[in-house]
Amino acid sequence: MTDAADTHPPLTLLIAAPRGFCAGVDRAIIIVERAIETYGAPVYVRHEIVHNKYVVDSLKAKGAIFVEELDEVPDGVPVVFSAHGVPKAVPAKAEERGLSYLDATCPLVSKVHRQAERQVETGRHILFIGHKGHPEVIGTFGQVPDGTMSLIETVDDAERFVPVDPENLAFLTQTTLSVDDTAAIVATLERRFPTIIAPKGEDICYATSNRQTAVKAIAHRCEVLYVIGAPNSSNSLRLVEVAEREGTPARLIQRADEIDFDWLEGKRVVGLTAGASAPEILVREVVERIATRYVVTEEQVETARESISFKLPRGLETA
Ligand code: SF4
Repeated sequence: MTDAADTHPPLTLLIAAPRGFCAGVDRAIIIVERAIETYGAPVYVRHEIVHNKYVVDSLKAKGAIFVEELDEVPDGVPVVFSAHGVPKAVPAKAEERGLSYLDATCPLVSKVHRQAERQVETGRHILFIGHKGHPEVIGTFGQVPDGTMSLIETVDDAERFVPVDPENLAFLTQTTLSVDDTAAIVATLERRFPTIIAPKGEDICYATSNRQTAVKAIAHRCEVLYVIGAPNSSNSLRLVEVAEREGTPARLIQRADEIDFDWLEGKRVVGLTAGASAPEILVREVVERIATRYVVTEEQVETARESISFKLPRGLETA
């Protein structure tokens, strides 16, 4: 019998750390699981709890039903709001209907919501740096009255924005943006509007920036890089961009069966990471699939340690 080492070429997998689940995603998944344990199935979830099909399918198997709008939730059953946050009108509507709800909004997204409210209370117009249509952006816009917040997606938007009162502006950002792109947009806003108020702390969350730093640390050593994540996962898409900016071709895959072995042909060093909503089991699945064609040496490259965890909503801590 021929040993695999005789027939398979060697391949080093540089695996970024931190990668995968963040504290907000962990908390959101636990909220759904505990809601099912506490109230019994089915528990409704408005929007994908986190942007990952594997996670959503696992929760479906446990008794969660995913819907896009509150209208789809029948009376008398509990509903969970996703980690991305919701406009204020959503819990208000739930209360109007007498639905019990659990809010799985990541506390770091909620922090941005509170800042938005405070800036509007002081009469400032908010420039919100983010991606149009993302649920987090919709949720944050829904914290303040119409017309008090404008979306800035690019440096070009920041250059062209014409405020009613340039002396009375504040900016906030989506939590899952590219650190570098956002810095360029912020620099443009601060040059044009020197009195603009910045957020108290960084709005881009620790998990997003740590995962981008980790990709930067391995990208220059890899020939190509895979990011495990969903096409609607903002932080995962940003990881692909970060690698490509470092000059390393990168691809987003959801599962191991999307690995394109032609793309890996002749490569000796391949990078691997996972977005904040992708579980570690999918990383292992990818490693194992690559190992069916290569003699794999795994090398973890750790750029930070994360120890953050968030409290669960009252009533679910001990379920
Ligand atoms: Fe919270 Fe950041 Fe995770 Fe989003 S990526 S859930 S903001 S910790």
